[in-house]
Amino acid sequence: MSKADEYDVIVVGAGAAGLAAASHLARHGKSVCVLEARDRIGGRVLSVRPRGAAVPLELGAEFIHGESPAVFEQLRSAGDVAVDAAQTRYRAPQPGRLKQSEDLFELMKQRLQAIPKPRVDMPFAEFLDKHRRRLSPTVRSFATMLVEGYDAADPARASAIEILKEWGGGSAADAPTFRPQRGYGALLDSLAGRLDPEKACVQLDSVVSEVRWRKGAVTVLFTQHGEPGEVRAKQVVITVPLAVLQLPPLAPGSVLFTPSLPRKQLPLSRLVMGPVVKLTLCFSKPFWAEIDEGEHRDVAFFHAQGAPFPTFWTTLPVRTSMLVAWSGGPKAMRLVSRSTDEVLRPALASVAEIFGKRRDYRKMLEAVYWHDWQSDPFSCGAYSYAGVGGGSARRQLAKSIEQTIFFAGEAVDEEESSSVGGALHTGQRAANEVLAGS
Ligand SMILES: Cc1cc2nc3c(=O)[nH]c(=O)nc-3n(C[C@H](O)[C@H](O)[C@H](O)COP(=O)(O)OP(=O)(O)OC[C@H]3O[C@@H](n4cnc5c(N)ncnc54)[C@H](O)[C@@H]3O)c2cc1C
Repeated sequence: MSKADEYDVIVVGAGAAGLAAASHLARHGKSVCVLEARDRIGGRVLSVRPRGAAVPLELGAEFIHGESPAVFEQLRSAGDVAVDAAQTRYRAPQPGRLKQSEDLFELMKQRLQAIPKPRVDMPFAEFLDKHRRRLSPTVRSFATMLVEGYDAADPARASAIEILKEWGGGSAADAPTFRPQRGYGALLDSLAGRLDPEKACVQLDSVVSEVRWRKGAVTVLFTQHGEPGEVRAKQVVITVPLAVLQLPPLAPGSVLFTPSLPRKQLPLSRLVMGPVVKLTLCFSKPFWAEIDEGEHRDVAFFHAQGAPFPTFWTTLPVRTSMLVAWSGGPKAMRLVSRSTDEVLRPALASVAEIFGKRRDYRKMLEAVYWHDWQSDPFSCGAYSYAGVGGGSARRQLAKSIEQTIFFAGEAVDEEESSSVGGALHTGQRAANEVLAGS
């Protein structure tokens, strides 16, 4: 093995967490090799900019939820700014009958706060059912919609204690929302571009299959274009998505640890990867701005609760003719692993549920962009949520092993889990842990 194959630290995965870890380590003088399975960096950040598009199209992460310190720090370093995302919401109780949505979040919070917190965890759906006399059908259905759509969670599996904790504090679901002006892709490109080439390398197309380790020494085995390879280091930071870590050993796409990590089994079993199907629909004109005498020109979000895609949003404050269709949780599970045409049909049916059935939306559609995160072997889903009993699972999963194996990624963050901010934060945290022990 040549000297070039030995580093201080190996980082597995070049998403937000991996790049943040590599950047921090390299700045502190460590030699770092980032091994990334895909032929691109970014992971679940995937921005595309078709010719003529006024804004980047985000096939993965798009919004900054709240004043995420980690994201704002990266924006500053990249010379970018955050743009306020508009918030006006309308819903369609009947096709084409759009009404401004009343803000139910505060009402839901008040009603839930009046109910004693469960001492023993249970599925969120069971909690709602148990208290159905004290929670109106409107509150229960809003809460269910939020768990499914925002947390991408199945209410029959999500931890009631964790959901109530999320909504009890300053919830990201209710926080001001922004977008990086140049898009998340540009943000991560800038982070990767600022890596010191003397200290850090990012090796693409490198699918890691095994981490052999003992205290203070790791050998990471990977395949690049069908050829096996290996690199060595003193420490490794693992940032692959939760669902990849949950694959059984030796299953296709799994990362084998030798020796195995029995202490990670329990936290891994208490976290769940949620599904999302997100489509960007490019129409020939912003038809929603024309209907009802222009009443919906400034609307950011449209909802039709029963539709396969219950949420749509516009690109406001930038005015374009694009609508983003969003389906999360059990509704999304019914749509995953389908062809573009198979997801487009329910998406256009959902457009008709909201804006009325009289227009030919397919005729107005010029292009559709999406990524099937569920079938993608390097994500196997969208983002994580805590299952029943999963209150401490993120913290347990984050714990390093023998000062040799470290964990980062959205699934191990306790403050901003499921987000780019959480991923960036854990990358820095893992890098600091590496540095603290060296
Ligand atoms: C549709 C969608 C919409 C979202 N919307 C938002 C949003 O609006 N705002 C927000 O903050 N967050 C959003 N998220 C979540 C956000 O994208 C993620 O939380 C964040 O990007 C995760 O970063 P990460 O570094 O933890 O993981 P990843 O970005 O998944 O990075 C892990 C990396 O590991 C690589 N990898 C996997 N297996 C291997 C292997 N065997 N060998 C080597 N490399 C491997 C992957 O290719 C990947 O690059 C969304 C996600 C999706 C899917």
